[in-house]
Amino acid sequence: MSGSLQGKAAVVTGGGSGIGLAVAQRLAREKAAVAVFDLDATAAKAAADSIAADGGTAVALAVDVADRDAVDQGMADVRRRLGPVTVLVNNAGKEGFRRLLDISVEEWNRLLAVNLTGTFHCCQAAVPDMVAAGWGRIVNIASSSAHSGQPLMTHYVASKAGVIGFTKALALELGPQGITVNTIPPGFIDTPMTRRNEARGRLGGTVDEHAARTPVRRAGTPEDIAATCAFLASDEAGYITGQVIGVNGGRNT
Ligand code: NAP
Repeated sequence: MSGSLQGKAAVVTGGGSGIGLAVAQRLAREKAAVAVFDLDATAAKAAADSIAADGGTAVALAVDVADRDAVDQGMADVRRRLGPVTVLVNNAGKEGFRRLLDISVEEWNRLLAVNLTGTFHCCQAAVPDMVAAGWGRIVNIASSSAHSGQPLMTHYVASKAGVIGFTKALALELGPQGITVNTIPPGFIDTPMTRRNEARGRLGGTVDEHAARTPVRRAGTPEDIAATCAFLASDEAGYITGQVIGVNGGRNT
């Protein structure tokens, strides 16, 4: 598939780490010009530098996806520097582990603001470019926990279930305009987020123990998700929209 996104500009949110970083690098290898949005400006710049070192084109922007003005300004900046944004991967996410009765309203609101409203903000900011082009690809990163449920994560799971519903509805709305919208709910991917949670004893076992219980007998890699994103962003995937594409080694079927 190398070069399938030649001439396209792509935005990857949360592209400074883990899954988002691998997605940004993979889309750049498909010849997209990539904008890395991340809360962490240093991580975003390192991601863009790694893409440039690999011969790709990338820019880094410090953007909190929960901040509508920052998203609008960031998207306008990308449009000026790289051209119309016709590929969008909404990956930025924040996890939370707390009993329902201990979740503060502020924590609930922040988590929903990043995971769900951030996806809404980025879609609203990028879709006009896709409509004008008569072509677009949106991939929203949800979570397998939205299928299975997960104790101590009501806020996180609710936000990711919202992303799945949002994806299905938007796909129906934008299909006639040549824009596909799909969601990948990853299951157990070895990323900095996962290792952080392992270190804090939040996973119910180590990464290796989870890998041993996974049907394909390994943890997922960010590259597993990136490969699926690259396919969904390609022309070849034009008849796939409104779908929930599980990438989870068989942990959820
Ligand atoms: P990660 O390594 O923590 O990377 C997430 C990136 O998103 C970080 O660079 C983070 O920046 C950034 N970010 C967080 N909040 C943001 C915001 N408001 N605006 C812009 N960027 C923001 O996590 P990951 O494991 O790669 O997860 C990526 C996505 O996959 C998330 O949506 C997560 O919920 C989802 N997911 C992951 C797994 C898994 O097994 N890893 C499973 C299911 C779903 P900071 O580091 O500065 O916060």
